[in-house]
Amino acid sequence: MAVSGARQRFTHFLSEAKRCRSRPRPPVPASQVPILFREPYILSGYRPVGQAWSCYVLSLFQRHNESVNVWTHLLAAAALLLRWGAEPPWPAGPPGAPGLPEQPLGLYVGSALCYLCCSVAAHLLQSRSELAHYCLFFLDYVGVAVYQYGCALGHYFYGSEAAWRAGPPGPAFLPGAALLAWLSCAACCFAKSYWRRPYPPARRVCTLIPAGLAYLLISSPLLHRLGAAGPWGPGLRLHAAHMALFLLSVLFFSCPVPERFLPGRCDFLGQGHQVFHVLLALCSFTQLEALLVDARRQGPGAFGEEEVLRACLLLPLVAGCCLLTALLAGRHKHRQLLAESGGGRLGELSLAEVTRD
Ligand SMILES: [Zn+2]
Repeated sequence: MAVSGARQRFTHFLSEAKRCRSRPRPPVPASQVPILFREPYILSGYRPVGQAWSCYVLSLFQRHNESVNVWTHLLAAAALLLRWGAEPPWPAGPPGAPGLPEQPLGLYVGSALCYLCCSVAAHLLQSRSELAHYCLFFLDYVGVAVYQYGCALGHYFYGSEAAWRAGPPGPAFLPGAALLAWLSCAACCFAKSYWRRPYPPARRVCTLIPAGLAYLLISSPLLHRLGAAGPWGPGLRLHAAHMALFLLSVLFFSCPVPERFLPGRCDFLGQGHQVFHVLLALCSFTQLEALLVDARRQGPGAFGEEEVLRACLLLPLVAGCCLLTALLAGRHKHRQLLAESGGGRLGELSLAEVTRD
């Protein structure tokens, strides 16, 4: 039994190694890929399903209908790293007084890189199989949830007024943001797994409600400042700009525009999802600049070391809970697809392979 298993694994390894030498196959029309991979009004440029993983990695340099989605977030991640690297050393507080903590800002940048990298992985590799598509988009939702909590950290430590922190939302803000980040990830995993194309409006409602609540909570310290009397300083103007960019990005995320009016003409460039990627990346850049201006404005910190540590430790907790949720959703999907395929091998892919890669 063990010998036959080892032989099977060896044969599979050989066939994978052989396929790795091959170049990615040319893109095909929508009619030649399963319905799961078809995007509304995008008629061509789909990468064929079932190639070796290396073919999808190499498709980074190929022209297909996900190229711009991949490159927008890949370049944004590189630019964000460069911008963060160019930032001068954190100013120390006056002798004897605590300085403004810099860990939350570092975690904010890390969370932004996390959502950009998860998005790149999802768009680059998802065409490998139906299971890979599901698992990689579950991972994408984990990245977004981590970024949500990273934003909450930034807004609380640099963007909030002391009067707001002393009020009712102050103590509940970070635990509430952590809970809603996980809830948004769980709702997205459930909606992706439960509903099939063509998606009903209920799917959008299921994902938008927790994400909308999370956004309102995370933005509450900024809304408090924007609503206060007095002129807007440079930091607040940048915050207003990133909030406007985010709301505009949600519009393009929710509606397949302009491809709806130009079916087949935006297959490579001009899709609403690509506009959403660009606007979201610009939103993150503007948000980082706003937080840096806020940090310089605040001067010495008003936070105890223990408070900073507790807040920062919630980030790996959110990431861990979301990752576990995504793994459970992936395992459920694996079983469902296996049952649908009558117990056959899923396009030569097992859940273990997806999680290992
Ligand atoms: Zn995307």
